[in-house]
Amino acid sequence: MKKFDVAIAGAGLIGGSIALELARAGLRVGLFDQQEPGQESSWAGAGILSPAPESSAMIPLVPLAKASMAIYPEFARTVEEISGQSAGYRPKGTLQVLFSRDAREELSTVIALHHGLGLKAEALRAEDARELEPSLSEDLEAAVLRPEEASVDNRALTQAVLEAARRSGVQFFPGNGVEAIRREGDRCTGLHLKNENIEAQWTVIAAGCFSANIEGVAPYAPVRPAKGQMVALRADDLKIERVLWSEKIYLVPRNDGRILAGATVEYTGFERGLTAGGLEKILAGAIELSPGLASARVEETWAGLRPDSPDHLPILGPTDLGSLLIATGHFRSGILLTPITAQLVREWVTLQSVSADWDRFSPMRFQSASAYRAPA
Ligand SMILES: Cc1cc2nc3c(=O)[nH]c(=O)nc-3n(C[C@H](O)[C@H](O)[C@H](O)COP(=O)(O)OP(=O)(O)OC[C@H]3O[C@@H](n4cnc5c(N)ncnc54)[C@H](O)[C@@H]3O)c2cc1C
Repeated sequence: MKKFDVAIAGAGLIGGSIALELARAGLRVGLFDQQEPGQESSWAGAGILSPAPESSAMIPLVPLAKASMAIYPEFARTVEEISGQSAGYRPKGTLQVLFSRDAREELSTVIALHHGLGLKAEALRAEDARELEPSLSEDLEAAVLRPEEASVDNRALTQAVLEAARRSGVQFFPGNGVEAIRREGDRCTGLHLKNENIEAQWTVIAAGCFSANIEGVAPYAPVRPAKGQMVALRADDLKIERVLWSEKIYLVPRNDGRILAGATVEYTGFERGLTAGGLEKILAGAIELSPGLASARVEETWAGLRPDSPDHLPILGPTDLGSLLIATGHFRSGILLTPITAQLVREWVTLQSVSADWDRFSPMRFQSASAYRAPA
């Protein structure tokens, strides 16, 4: 039987980054994926790094998101150094554009919310916003500049993380779907694959929106897929520097000149078909934000499946089954939350304590209070 210090189910950005951190801490790590690594949500995402909450339900996530944002530059640098590959990190800020008639009122509400959460945000007049981003529509009323936000090329980052993990000694097992967790009494002792058992001192489930399909995991990680459709545009005569948001969509410029537009949020199971309505919504929103995009070439369209949890917050930490950790449910922020997730899992595995408060994200929160036992 193969033996590891840590066995990880799922080789996306989350599982790959956890594997990298643990291997760099000197542990023997096995990374298992049912297909080629890095082809799911981590490939499909837009790569916006924004700790600002998209709704009031996401406010509990802000401290963790800020902590991840703070270590992102170092994380990207380390991954690039070890892998020899670029991560496409762009610390250029983001611009939220307001079109409504009562934009002035909306502007002060948005600024107050951000400042209350300790996030940098500056109110801009329409003409100042257009000076920063000349492609913006003349119909905009005001804007909010969030200078500390950034973006990353998540496809490039994912490949760089996986290469860095390989070079750091992580053993990869692509095409090895995990069927169940192994239990002995009140401990998890590894993973069951189709034709093989894997023994591990620690087991981490990081299989994205598929995590609940692994037998024994659903009570801790009742995740479901949230489909997002995306479009990649190219416009030779139009330049966008920052991530641009409207109420309807976002635009994310890449270093290679592509402009990503997204995204829908749809609960249609594990299917990932593109729809006329989804693409229409994205393209109409893109052209409203930046009218010159009407003549942009459509280079690519795709859809991916975000790992969503019942309260839309990540599922992160130990369980009542000794040595079993969960790291999924990152929903719309998994690319942003990758560095802090990897750091906290490494701290727990090596020290059994963590440097940030992650209780709010415990996998035990979905079980009844009476079923709760302190994690081993
Ligand atoms: C359209 C879209 C836009 C997004 N935009 C952003 C954004 O701008 N910013 C941001 O921070 N986040 C964004 N996200 C969310 C982000 O992409 C995800 O939260 C993140 O990538 C999740 O990473 P993961 O490694 O957990 O999951 P995944 O990347 O899905 O990886 C899971 C891995 O587990 C494997 N697996 C599944 N089942 C098994 C099994 N039984 N055994 C072994 N392996 C298994 C899969 O093959 C896969 O490789 C977006 C997502 C989408 C779809």
